[in-house]
Amino acid sequence: MAGAGGERREASAVVIAPHLQIAIDGPAGSGKTTVAHALAQRLGILYLDTGAMYRAVASEVLAAGLDADNEAAVLRICAMHPIDVRLDANAPMGFRVFAGARELQSAMLQSNTVSAVVSTIAAHPHVREALVLEQRRIALCGPVVMAGRDIGSVVLPDAPVKIYLTATVEARVSRRRAQLLSAGVDVALHQLAREIEERDSLDENRAVSPLQIAPDAHVIDSSLLSVDEVVARITALAHHLAA
Ligand code: C5P
Repeated sequence: MAGAGGERREASAVVIAPHLQIAIDGPAGSGKTTVAHALAQRLGILYLDTGAMYRAVASEVLAAGLDADNEAAVLRICAMHPIDVRLDANAPMGFRVFAGARELQSAMLQSNTVSAVVSTIAAHPHVREALVLEQRRIALCGPVVMAGRDIGSVVLPDAPVKIYLTATVEARVSRRRAQLLSAGVDVALHQLAREIEERDSLDENRAVSPLQIAPDAHVIDSSLLSVDEVVARITALAHHLAA
C-alpha cells in the first residue's frame, strides 16, 4: 500500500494541536463520513474515510472475479494493484483512491455489489493489517479526522478524541440512501435496511477488530441531530479534550 499526498483546507480560526487525532467510529449509515468530512473542513485538518480503503480492495476483488472468502487471493490482488489513498481536500470525497495507477470512482466504491462483499474482505486479518499500517502512516501527515469501525480501538488507540456515532436503523437507512444518491447510486430502502443489518452483524461479530465502542469513546446518537449539530458537539469536545 503506497503514498499519501497531502493537501489542507485553509486553517480554521481555532488553534489545532499538531497531534490532534479525532477518531469517529460507528455502524453503517451512522453519518460518520459526512460528519467527519464536515468536521475536518471546519477545523482545516486532514480527513480519511477508512471504509473507502476496504471498499477499494473489495472493488478490485470483484473486478478480478475472485472469491472474497479467499484471503490469499485477496492479498495477491492487493499486491498486484496496491491501494493508494491521496488526500485531496478538493476531491468530492476529500481524498482520491487508486488501485495501482487506476483511480477508483466513488459510485463504484459505494455500489451495492461492493457493499455486499466488503465486510467479508474486511474480516481477513492480513488485509486489515496492511490497511491499518497505511492508515497510521496517513495519520502521521498531520492533525486528522479518521472515520471507520476500529479507529479508536485499534488504528489510533491514543487519539485524544474518540467518538462512537450511532443512530436508529431508520435514520441510518435513510441517510445511507441519501449518501448513495449523491454518489449516483439508487438502492431501494428495504434492500438497504437488509444490507446495513447484515454488514453491522458481520462487522460486530468478526474475530479481528470488531466494531465496538472504545471504553474512552463519547457516544453520540445522531438520530435527531443535524450534521452541523453533531459537528458542533465534536468540535466542543475536541477543544475541551485536546486543548
Ligand atoms: O464505512 P463504510 O460503510 O464505507 O465501510 C465499509 C465496510 O468496510 C464496513 O462495513 C466494514 O466491513 C469495513 N470497515 C472496517 N474497518 C474500518 C472501516 C470500514 O472493517 N475501519
